Amino acid sequence: MSRRTANHAELITELLRSFKLTAAAEELVPRLVTAGHDQALATIAEVLGLEEDARHERRVQRLRRASKLPEGKTFETFDEKRLGQPVLRKIRELESGVFLDEAINVLGFGLPGVGKSHLLAALGHVLVSQGRSVLWTPTYSLVQELLAAKRDLVLPRKLRKLDNFELVILDDIGYVNQSPEEAEVLFTLLAERYERRSTALTSNLVFSEWDRIFKNKMATSAAIDRLVHHSVVLEFDVPSYRTEKAKSKRKD
Ligand code: ADP
Ligand code: MG
Repeated sequence: MSRRTANHAELITELLRSFKLTAAAEELVPRLVTAGHDQALATIAEVLGLEEDARHERRVQRLRRASKLPEGKTFETFDEKRLGQPVLRKIRELESGVFLDEAINVLGFGLPGVGKSHLLAALGHVLVSQGRSVLWTPTYSLVQELLAAKRDLVLPRKLRKLDNFELVILDDIGYVNQSPEEAEVLFTLLAERYERRSTALTSNLVFSEWDRIFKNKMATSAAIDRLVHHSVVLEFDVPSYRTEKAKSKRKD
């Protein structure tokens, strides 16, 4: 077998295995070679490569729908020049998706309108296109869903479902004043994902104001400890995008 043929043979076997066609993975190449059809291996490898691309594309479409990511909020519509170098550098690194394998959290802080939600959504879109499973949710609505699940005694099942997502993006944590019950289910979610799955969040509140979210000092510091322990912090110290836009419009 020539080197090229061997490469094609290896690729075919590998692809069939990844499609979970285990018997075919073992039999196809040896049988073709025995029957003297080595010539066909290149074409078969090529066709299976197309199958792989099509499967990836379908998976990405499925993940994109399930992610509930806001559609237009991608890097294509994001002006990166507005970000500081440290945030940009961190974002470029996060785009590799490696942080998901290490259950590292991403915490975006800054005043309203500075692009926290847009940037984390854009990051989410990039990860989805790599085949990663992401869920985007306003914190408030996820908290309501968790509360309802708790009331129906199905909170563990709901948490297991969320566990399927490699990244849960909680948009606007602490935007609303939460009741103790709401704070408790939010804490349960964070504790559940701690050191196993990544969580990203955006917040207008600095940590010192977080007892407004978790109500008591102990729960607040426990939540912050868990989030920060393995995390990348993105600080948005830029002027509000909306205000800047409005200003430049007035100038026109
Ligand atoms: P935050 O979550 O920090 O309150 P958003 O991400 O919601 O802010 O941004 C407010 C609005 O301004 C959104 O419509 C967003 O798309 C837009 N925006 C913010 N920053 C940028 C940016 N750097 N480039 C393009 N649009 C931006
Ligand atoms: Mg926001």
